[in-house]
Amino acid sequence: MVSFDEAINIILSSVSPVGTERVHLLDATGRVIAEDMIAPRDMPLWDNSAMDGYAVKFADCDIVPRMLRVNAFLPAGTNAGGVCVEQGCAIRIMTGAPIPDGCDAIVPLEETDKNDHEIALREPVVKGQHIRFKGEDVHAGIAFIQAGSIIRPPEINMLASFGIALVPVYRRPSVAILSTGDELVELGTTPGVGEIVNSNTLSLAAAVRETGAVPLVIGIARDVRESHLEKLLEGLKADVLITSAGVSAGDRDLVRDVLAELGSRQLFWKVGVKPGGPTAFALHGSTPVFSLPGNPVSTMITFEEFVRPALLKMQGYRRVLRPLFKAILREELHKKPGKVQIARIRLEREDGRWYATSAGNQQTAILRTMVDAEALAVLSLEKTYFAIGDEIDAHFYGNHIDQM
Ligand code: AMP
Ligand code: MG
Repeated sequence: MVSFDEAINIILSSVSPVGTERVHLLDATGRVIAEDMIAPRDMPLWDNSAMDGYAVKFADCDIVPRMLRVNAFLPAGTNAGGVCVEQGCAIRIMTGAPIPDGCDAIVPLEETDKNDHEIALREPVVKGQHIRFKGEDVHAGIAFIQAGSIIRPPEINMLASFGIALVPVYRRPSVAILSTGDELVELGTTPGVGEIVNSNTLSLAAAVRETGAVPLVIGIARDVRESHLEKLLEGLKADVLITSAGVSAGDRDLVRDVLAELGSRQLFWKVGVKPGGPTAFALHGSTPVFSLPGNPVSTMITFEEFVRPALLKMQGYRRVLRPLFKAILREELHKKPGKVQIARIRLEREDGRWYATSAGNQQTAILRTMVDAEALAVLSLEKTYFAIGDEIDAHFYGNHIDQM
């Protein structure tokens, strides 16, 4: 048996990004950039006005109030080539328009009084004021986005500004999902006595998709060697394989044996965590194989704690573990010693602190408590009792938690 932390470390040191591809900016949000992006040119490309107003020569504006004749008009999108300011004159200019030759300051519209062809400056002018200078934002040749950065709207805006339509990102791994068990029927079939719907495949596919990876549904392996062989071989063609059930010590628990027969190298079986104790992890060549327990609550929690970080790392993300925060217990909690316990909790925010209550019956068979959980508490292995008012470590559960 490995500890909870050891299991995470073994998994994370066994996986790495699966490769890169180029995607269009419209499809790039949330992806991780695989190379430093080097600015092909200065941004902005030319000095331009930061305000609607008048481009002036600073030397003409030494004493205020000062009258200047308006001798040209430059809206955004016009080329300032050839437009130049004569002595004692000003050029009407709109935000974003290039600064005409000879001008070295912009006077905002609201700091002037205007009559037919003249303006009066009311305020003293500072050289360079309200000008966005060439290269002031980004200089040509610098890495304006570093490899490993997540692409958000700001990154997309900057890439688009440089005219870059295709960006190199880490590939999304394909993740085969295989359920095992003679009791399973597929969604759409009414289960008879002793049968249950293969719900794990669907929640695993959803959880895989939430990480950004691509789920591949392999179906059900029946509890005989041949069926396991056939389905595991199919699943091993993907970048990652996740199996559910058949990994405990029961007579019909074939997953580990058949994986071993196929040449997979098991890195651990059994973890000091509850739920999720029977979890196994293997490498088939370099393909990670997660064998998760079949009980739906255990399957979802082991996915969250062990598989999710691995899938994120494979897509180039740097921070792959959910950040833990402290929450104050509003109810007491008991647990067994020697194992980390993952408790399903609800949270309330008061006076700048998080307060935790149990999301319900913590038995692993109770699916309802998983539905009601907003967060998971990670209860340390040594302790057996947590009193009201004790601080516990917790992390949010679910990608849309801030909308709940
Ligand atoms: P096992 O690990 O095969 O003993 O399965 C543990 C428990 O999980 C049993 O109650 C199974 O019926 C249940 N189970 C196994 N596979 C699935 C599945 N794909 N969907 C829902 N429940 C499952
Ligand atoms: Mg089974």
